[in-house]
Amino acid sequence: MKAIRTFTVRSSLPESLRPLEALATNLRWSWHEPTRELFREVSLDAWRGAGHDPIQLLGRVGQERIAELAADEGFVGRVHALAQDLDDYLSQARWYQSLDGAPRSIGYFSPEFGITSALPQYSGGLGILAGDHLKAASDLGIPIVGVGLFYQAGYFRQAISSEGWQQESYPVLDPDGLPLTVLRGDDGAPVLVTLALPGGRTLHARIWEARVGRVPLLLLDTNVRDNAPELRGVADRLYGGGGEHRLVQELLLGIGGVRALAAYAERTGGEMPEVYHSNEGHAGFLGLERIGALVADGLSFAEALRVVRAGTVFTTHTPVPAGIDRFDASLVRAHFATGELVPGIDADDVLALGAEATEGVFNMAHLGFALAQRANGVSRLHGSVSREMFGALWPGFDADDVPIGSVTNGVHAATWTSPHLKRLAAEVLGASDTTKADWGSEALADDMLWAVRRDMRQQLVTEARTRTRRQHERNQGAAPAWVDRLLDPDVLTIGFARRVPTYKRLTLMLHDRERLRALLTHPERPVQLVIAGKSHPADEQGKQLIQELVRFGQDPAVRERIVFLEDYDISMAKTLYPGCDVWLNNPLRPLEACGTSGMKAALNGSLNLSILDGWWDEYHDEQNGWAIPSANERVDAATRDALEATALYDLIEHQVAPRFYRRDERGLPRDWIASIRHTLETMSPELSAERMLQQYVRDLYAPAAVAERAVSADDYAPARELAAWTARVRDAFGGVRVLHVEIDGVDSPPVVGDSIDVRAYVELGTLQPDDVRVEVVGGRMGDGGELYDTRRFALAHEGASASADRFAATLPVLRAGTFGYAVRVVPAHDLLSSPAELGLVAVAG
Ligand SMILES: *Cc1c(COP(=O)(O)O)cnc(C)c1O
Repeated sequence: MKAIRTFTVRSSLPESLRPLEALATNLRWSWHEPTRELFREVSLDAWRGAGHDPIQLLGRVGQERIAELAADEGFVGRVHALAQDLDDYLSQARWYQSLDGAPRSIGYFSPEFGITSALPQYSGGLGILAGDHLKAASDLGIPIVGVGLFYQAGYFRQAISSEGWQQESYPVLDPDGLPLTVLRGDDGAPVLVTLALPGGRTLHARIWEARVGRVPLLLLDTNVRDNAPELRGVADRLYGGGGEHRLVQELLLGIGGVRALAAYAERTGGEMPEVYHSNEGHAGFLGLERIGALVADGLSFAEALRVVRAGTVFTTHTPVPAGIDRFDASLVRAHFATGELVPGIDADDVLALGAEATEGVFNMAHLGFALAQRANGVSRLHGSVSREMFGALWPGFDADDVPIGSVTNGVHAATWTSPHLKRLAAEVLGASDTTKADWGSEALADDMLWAVRRDMRQQLVTEARTRTRRQHERNQGAAPAWVDRLLDPDVLTIGFARRVPTYKRLTLMLHDRERLRALLTHPERPVQLVIAGKSHPADEQGKQLIQELVRFGQDPAVRERIVFLEDYDISMAKTLYPGCDVWLNNPLRPLEACGTSGMKAALNGSLNLSILDGWWDEYHDEQNGWAIPSANERVDAATRDALEATALYDLIEHQVAPRFYRRDERGLPRDWIASIRHTLETMSPELSAERMLQQYVRDLYAPAAVAERAVSADDYAPARELAAWTARVRDAFGGVRVLHVEIDGVDSPPVVGDSIDVRAYVELGTLQPDDVRVEVVGGRMGDGGELYDTRRFALAHEGASASADRFAATLPVLRAGTFGYAVRVVPAHDLLSSPAELGLVAVAG
């Protein structure tokens, strides 16, 4: 019989071991090695059996073992020392506390959070990034509060059948058995957030709190008795349904999320965030709830919009159109038109914010941009791709002017670095943080580093055999003998694991099967492949790709050298990245916005072999791995696959394998080891989430707080003024024209050091000279006459005649070459963050 529900009984701990509870419930254990050691000490078997989940562990060990530990002075001492260490970690001033004027609190909204496999509330990269964001924020003392949903079944568990077909299951989670506590009111009952849905229905959600070091994470849970049965399942699964189900999930995340923050602030005596960060578009409705609150305070929609925009940051995560949430506009209208979901705001105003060229569609990315004054992509290349992709939202501006910046993702080093490597850094290099260790130091001999890398590979081999054995036993009752020979701890190991959307090209490696077989079975320089990944349950094509790969690997000629591991998740990833010598990534450029698995591999000294996409486009150098050349984007898909697959095989055969197997008289691959050192030394600080968080604070959170304070001062007077000004400028801008431009000083070719005089005659209609900025945009010229490498210079107002205002400047000639220039007029206001912000421009014709 199958259980319909589970519940967890926690052991009762004697007084001396009571601090174990705090150590188990604060998720810092997920990246704090000494705390993990302590749990292993409680019982290694139970720790493994509990899937490295301390709460389950404490539920499993018997009272006898607990009594034994309570009598062990050494153990009790370690428990207390670690509890003290946790207290210190939670209370000490850190990097953020040295900053001036930074936001007092930041609300970070994400549809998924991947913190540990013990809290399975993530599907892939986006969620794990959000988890790493919170962890690094905690380490740096950044006052973030995370906001998400509690999915009763999280994301699915994957099993692979003997036929290679993906099978999904959705084990229902028991929140009482997870490291969560429910937010309660004075009366002891759970605090409920409510949302008014059409048809007079009310959606309720309770609020679970997880502690991620010093960062609280609030998760909204709809599985409460107050809900009608059909509403209990609103947050049943991560990315479960489509249409209305998904819309209601996102309304809950955004609107309910802000309400949860208010309830949390009230219960804990905290304050509401000054800055809100929407991690991808799913949480975009949060801005509407905030507008609603300001409207209730007496602002108009347009005025409130100015305040909300100032304090909101939006991060876009995908250049793949199918990855962007779009809803039927009529469905969105139906939810807002009742006037009860967010009182005081008009459905037409809401729909305008998410409009797109396709009539009747509501676009969550567009909503994100409309509600945030600051927006970014997640790698330098993705920033530039996003400026192209969303450029139409700022008509008349070149892609370079589109106000979308970039912050390249990073990964939380303490979570993702192998304990083997941490120990090496601590014992040999005296570094408690692997990203700050001197990996080039002579104190670390080549053979030591190589031995540790072999241990990491060995651990992966062991893990792969265990998992494969379990899979065979489940599918066929017994595992064949060859599973004991699966993978070899001394063979060059290449890893590939990711979700399976088409653009990631899981099966590119199968393009020429003969050639792949030859690489796997090479007599002197064999390679072995470890592969994993989940296909979206509704994606039959993705499942077929998995099946092709699994079937290929069933061939007795190669089955000991290639393995597909089922149920890719954080716990597998933590052995997988460190155990691979090479991490492979072959997406269709430029569709991988950043990619973070390669970063995690690099933090462990693995080398990357990847298409120049996402982060790798920015960080690849000649020593830290190999760039797979991309074919021209214009050739057809089949040709492109063929060219890129061939390039991949060539690289493995002629460069990767020879470097790995080139050994000196002591059997050491000196060149390879040099690459490992170089990777650890140069890349780990750059790829760490600390670097990412510091950049978010400096470039986005702090400026957003400044902007939000500026518009909110004097009871929102600046916001009211800005809204009125914006309306006036929008109305009048159609009348702005550059009539005529004069340039002096270019009759004879100028030389560097000369100057040129520019004068523009501009008709301003009803606008004042102060309302605009007249600019010369100068730069080099491309083949089609378009400007690039541009710089902007403001012209000063000189005077006016009856027909036009005169603006002029004298510009120095700084560089030799052929230049072009253009003159344009844009709105100018101190509270705008970019000349393109309003999407208004008049250009000299
Ligand atoms: C890092 C990670 C991902 C994301 O990897 P990408 O390279 O961005 O595809 C997905 N799943 C797990 C379990 C991860 O650890």
